[in-house]
Amino acid sequence: MRNMRAICVLLSVFSVTLLGQNTFTVGTAAAAPGQKATGFIEVPAGADPATSIPVAVIHGAKTGPVLALVSGAHGTEYASIIALEKVIQSLDPAQVSGTVIILPLVNIASFEQKVPHVNPVDGKSMNRFYPGKADGTQTERASYLITRQVVERCDYLVDYHGGDLDENLRPYAYWPKSGSPKQDATTREMVLAFGLDHIIVASDRPKDPNASRYLDNTANTRGKPAIAVEAGYSGTVQPEDVALLVNGTFSLMRHLQMLPGRPAIVEHPVWLGKVDTVASEQPGIFYPLVQRGTYVEQGMKIGYVTDYFGKTIYEARAPASGVVLYICGVPSMKKGDAVANIGEITQAP
Ligand SMILES: [Zn+2]
Repeated sequence: MRNMRAICVLLSVFSVTLLGQNTFTVGTAAAAPGQKATGFIEVPAGADPATSIPVAVIHGAKTGPVLALVSGAHGTEYASIIALEKVIQSLDPAQVSGTVIILPLVNIASFEQKVPHVNPVDGKSMNRFYPGKADGTQTERASYLITRQVVERCDYLVDYHGGDLDENLRPYAYWPKSGSPKQDATTREMVLAFGLDHIIVASDRPKDPNASRYLDNTANTRGKPAIAVEAGYSGTVQPEDVALLVNGTFSLMRHLQMLPGRPAIVEHPVWLGKVDTVASEQPGIFYPLVQRGTYVEQGMKIGYVTDYFGKTIYEARAPASGVVLYICGVPSMKKGDAVANIGEITQAP
């Protein structure tokens, strides 16, 4: 009898150990090989309330790398959020080699309350406070847990964004240059495999992992190749924008040999070496004169601001020739707000 009990205890310890080795757990989502699981990363209350960040784990039937896909740091950049909802539903763990961690909506308060740019709980952008702080405000506590539970456990990462409620944006990707030739070669292949045809070369990201600021940079400064992608604009969920992000994700997974098939690699993208932000010098009513994606010449008038009686008080001009990556999509304009971002075209790096 005593031996029997000892054997039972041994067996259960053994199976728990086996399960522990095989199950991939993020927050409350625990998926055995060949399974998909959903749950939440629970961010405890601190100086301000607690929050729960939805997470899906797709644990492939075959072994392979861990890929993290994160969207909704800005909760009203809807096309990017809807794209990852589709990816969660579409991915079949039986077809996947490796594991995919998906956070489709980091900033739930922004989404629910329709507040652009920031987390309304603490007024902070949820893509500016990485690697976060365990004892900070809600944005910092969430960023801390995402760093520990997602970034540190992945091999590759993609951060998804798009034009916010007030941004009329054309799709593009970021190729973040870390300074490490090997890692930069990997991220260059990743961004080409994702397939967006306008790519910003971002060389100005912080190099200190303890002051990494952005999510993709938090991964890159920890030696995990990461890119950022943007599609969608002005609160819309256009099928073509969602398709760009969903298809790009699957193409990247084929490149990483996490899905069967060949990636669709963009062959001759427009490379953008510098991005110029045009900020309004006056508050008032904004009128755009160009569309997202328009090619403009240096000095070209791209929009203007009037006072509340229709008198023009500021003319916005392109500081350089390039592509209008986004232009303000609403009449509301404060002094210092972005009128437009212009990407300057450069040679293929
Ligand atoms: Zn964003």
